[in-house]
Amino acid sequence: MATETPHVSNPHLLRDIQKLGAFDVSACFSCGTCTSVCPLSDGTTVFPRKIITYAQLGLEEKILASPEPWLCYYCGECTDNCPRGADPAGFMMATRRWLTTKYDVTGISKRLYGSKLAEWIGIGLLVLLAGLLAFWYHGPIVTSTVALSTFAPIQLVELADWVVLGVLSVFLLVNVFRMYYYTVLRIPGKRIPFSAYVKNVLILPITFFTQYKFASCKKDPKKHWFSHLSRYLGYAMLFVLAVFLLSEWQTDTYYPLWSPIMLLQYAAAGLLIYGLSGPLYGRLKKTENQYKYSHSTDWMFLLLLLATALTGVAVVTFKYTYLPWAAYITYAFHLMLVTALLVLEVPFAKWSHMAYRTFAPYFAKLQALRGTPLAGGSKSG
Ligand code: SF4
Ligand code: SF4
Repeated sequence: MATETPHVSNPHLLRDIQKLGAFDVSACFSCGTCTSVCPLSDGTTVFPRKIITYAQLGLEEKILASPEPWLCYYCGECTDNCPRGADPAGFMMATRRWLTTKYDVTGISKRLYGSKLAEWIGIGLLVLLAGLLAFWYHGPIVTSTVALSTFAPIQLVELADWVVLGVLSVFLLVNVFRMYYYTVLRIPGKRIPFSAYVKNVLILPITFFTQYKFASCKKDPKKHWFSHLSRYLGYAMLFVLAVFLLSEWQTDTYYPLWSPIMLLQYAAAGLLIYGLSGPLYGRLKKTENQYKYSHSTDWMFLLLLLATALTGVAVVTFKYTYLPWAAYITYAFHLMLVTALLVLEVPFAKWSHMAYRTFAPYFAKLQALRGTPLAGGSKSG
């Protein structure tokens, strides 16, 4: 049964969120310009000023109950127009990191986001562990051809793949359930009929596979939308290749270069490299306001993902150019990077945002059906 959300003020809330970003909402004088220019703020989901106000007042439970930080697509329009330089877009990004630490029950997210050292140690340990496993359990090294499945015994790799996937799925599903609890279940109001859950469920695949909200960005909407969509589809294809089609791509067989499995690999690598180039270039050159500050976890995620894509491309290249040692060594590095990427990023850091962003519009709809929307503002500010 839903209970009234307690409105106890947490005096450290703003400081806690601020640790995860570089915005300055103390400069905010609540003019509402950010909300009025935000292309995605609408109806019962009005932001970012409302969320900033919650943070300034220490209303932790209100922020936990808000799907809005996940509805913001970080276009930077609000920051560009803020008369006080408070960087509301950066604030929304930092709030997403803070929420990620709140959904995660293990405390790992908090450590990753809170300390660069913890992040490096976590990644280092996972890379080392995967490297040792590859060293101890690799199969015969065939040098007359490139035999990936003989070098990395497919049964062992598949077993490890499914075990890791199972454990990570449990963590991620628990986190998504906690998001649902905070944003829907705990909100007081009318009971939501089961039919409403079913009727709205299509929002999930539509959001995931189209990323249509990004097309609302005022600045170069097609470029932003396509870059974001490329990353999402690239992640999805990488996931399908690594989990469901592992024995097809990590194989001793040489497929024709234009076979479906090869085309899928080209598409995954191409989409990922294209989708990552925009945010990496933007962060390096600080081309736009929203790229001026990057948390270390942003860099780590983008670089790990890029390195994973590039080592994957290199393995295939070495295989088809008949360079066995180069292919095996690169494949071992690829497995080490994939392990760190999946274990840390899927349930605890940036990759989990993909799930929260996908569920946010669904939970926002369900929350609205409660009949007591949390919205504390209007589009006009
Ligand atoms: S635009 Fe938004 S963040 Fe900037 S001062 Fe106005 S209300 Fe505050
Ligand atoms: S970054 Fe863009 S989507 Fe996010 S709050 Fe600002 S204007 Fe809205």
